[in-house]
Amino acid sequence: MALAKAPDVQPAKKPRSTDLPGTLDTSVQYVKGVGPRLAGVLSKLGIYTVRDLLFYFPRRHEDRTRFARVSQLRHGEAATVAGTIVAVDNVRTRGPLVLTKVVVDDGSGIVVLTWFNQKFRREQFQKLRGQRIVAYGTVQCGRWGAEIANPEWEVYSDESDTLSSGRVVPIYPLTEGVYQTQLRRIIRNAIDNYVSMVEETLPDDLRGRLGLVGIQDAISNIHFPKDEAALEAARKRLVFDELFLLQLALAMRKRGSEAPGRGIEFKIPEDLLDQLRQILPFELTNAQKRVIQEIASDMARPVCMNRLLQGDVGSGKTVVALAAMLIAARNGYQSALMAPTEILAEQHYLGISEYIGRLDVIGIHVDLLTGSLSAKQRQAVRDRIALGETQIVIGTHALIQENVQFHKLGLVIIDEQHRFGVLQRAALLEKGLTPDMLVMTATPIPRTLTLTVYGDLDVSIIDELPPGRKPVKTHWKQKSNRRKVYEALRKIIDQGRQAYVVCPLIEESEKLQAQAASDLAEFLANEMFPDLRVGLLHGQMKTEEKDAVMSAFRRGEIDILVSTTVIEVGVDVPNATVMVIEDADRFGLAQLHQLRGRVGRGSEQSFCVLICEGTSEESIRRMQIMASTTDGFVIAEEDLKLRGPGEFYGTKQSGMIGMKIADIFRDVPVLELARKEAFELIEKDPQLSQPEHRLLREDLLKKYEGLQLVTVS
Ligand code: ADP
Ligand code: MG
Repeated sequence: MALAKAPDVQPAKKPRSTDLPGTLDTSVQYVKGVGPRLAGVLSKLGIYTVRDLLFYFPRRHEDRTRFARVSQLRHGEAATVAGTIVAVDNVRTRGPLVLTKVVVDDGSGIVVLTWFNQKFRREQFQKLRGQRIVAYGTVQCGRWGAEIANPEWEVYSDESDTLSSGRVVPIYPLTEGVYQTQLRRIIRNAIDNYVSMVEETLPDDLRGRLGLVGIQDAISNIHFPKDEAALEAARKRLVFDELFLLQLALAMRKRGSEAPGRGIEFKIPEDLLDQLRQILPFELTNAQKRVIQEIASDMARPVCMNRLLQGDVGSGKTVVALAAMLIAARNGYQSALMAPTEILAEQHYLGISEYIGRLDVIGIHVDLLTGSLSAKQRQAVRDRIALGETQIVIGTHALIQENVQFHKLGLVIIDEQHRFGVLQRAALLEKGLTPDMLVMTATPIPRTLTLTVYGDLDVSIIDELPPGRKPVKTHWKQKSNRRKVYEALRKIIDQGRQAYVVCPLIEESEKLQAQAASDLAEFLANEMFPDLRVGLLHGQMKTEEKDAVMSAFRRGEIDILVSTTVIEVGVDVPNATVMVIEDADRFGLAQLHQLRGRVGRGSEQSFCVLICEGTSEESIRRMQIMASTTDGFVIAEEDLKLRGPGEFYGTKQSGMIGMKIADIFRDVPVLELARKEAFELIEKDPQLSQPEHRLLREDLLKKYEGLQLVTVS
């Protein structure tokens, strides 16, 4: 039989899995052991290419050269155990709920693994009876011996699986459809075939100077470390990379915004302090004068101001903002002051228009732009802003989101920054506006955040409260004393003061939260204080309703304001001298501090009463801290200790800057090192245009362009 003639035209070459090794950008599908189905699953983990797979770091490692012996497990410790499944059953608990118990024997004793209300587990584990598994979790030693609830687990493959046993083993975050053992295998394959293609991004001299291992070495050892020391070195290198890139972005942005000629050279009026003296009913504190000076000298320079103003609650940040806005107005520029809530925006509006009204300089018009204005009113305000008839605009963050056209915007002030994202700050830059920027916050910001999230800002601190302030006296009372607390409250109200009562926090539901506030208000109005005027404020009320209540409270027409945490931020009514916080242990320390900051704003002695049982050690500790200090920095530090770093500002903030391996709380030493090196490098090579910085520049653009962390100039 004759052979068929070869066709003249060659068929187009399709990629096949034999086309190894390709490049780092090759689809992950072609990594040995993956294939189309698993590639689909991996995409759910954000893994699309070989590179993604190599940079998919383990969540933690487990030392499987030795396991904990079940007979020696201790209550409360996290442990990994390995043993044989000897029994499985579902046990009914309350009502229809089911507890699956899996009994594991390691020869020294038995440990019970439990899953709550996951019926399918029984069948799953029955199939595995007699097999060895590894489980990891927190041990509880109870009446029935050692238990681990909801453990991480996997079938312990035979001893010949050298990736999953007898070594330090990587544990990856998973998704449905892929197992630890599988992921370990394919990552091993990816390392074997591709790691030699990963290019070194750090210049040699830098790497040598800081003693950082090479990138290929780091990747291999972050997954399958030779030993603990190799793992540590790998982690340090990769953490450095991440933080270094972030700091390069910040350094470039800072340099960009500081480029001469981009900012406005405001003239500082010589009579500025005199004018403030004329319109303010009090003397500025020395700290206020100092920060006004710092801001003024920033504004006078031809570069953009980027300043963070920190000052504890009640330290008087608003008048500092006023001073800055006066400078802008006197130079013919507009200012925008943005607050996190409408209540606060309105309060600033009322206060600032009153001060401005006392000025003998004419022609400074103040406007309020919030969502509660009618469409017609809003349009009118917008027109005035666009025509330059308004010099000072106060609003919520809608100010930058909405399509507001400024005539001549020179200054943006953001109040209570912790409620805003960094990206909103970037939104202005995106509009092509490069005004001077002042960010004000009452939350003491740990150094780690001033180095990262706020890393391109200069910092001013008001470290002094206005004179005559008496620190708020804080008492912790048991629930059984609640009635006595309210009787004492009545005496103070009889003397003409006002009070806040904060209702228990219900985080799960806005509706329930509103209900809790209404119930409490009803109880106080009907049972405790039928003769007093009790008001109610919560997040589910319409803006006009909230405003009406706040204005009435400010005018003294309400004696007791029952509220949720909507009053947490910035509200300023000096005649309110008592705050009662119900179920105070439901709030975090930082939140309690913010809440308490609503009282103690006048010269009268103020009080804060925390009502709670104090059932756990931690809640007792929190109550004691609140009762013993009013110093926001001390409280923030204690909070950090109690809650652990990850929780403090929420993982959101660190997520926002895209950290995969660095922990900006724990890695502060590396962070500081990376910052120093990055700023020095940008000083020498501002655009990273030298050939040995090419890869850094590419990485930087890839990672941060979308986030607008880099000012594109
Ligand atoms: P915060 O820093 O918390 O925003 P505010 O600006 O709301 O503080 O000021 C708190 C209160 O202190 C306000 O009633 C304000 O009028 C008052 N205040 C501000 N500065 C001084 C000062 N130098 N002397 C006396 N009272 C002041
Ligand atoms: Mg304020």
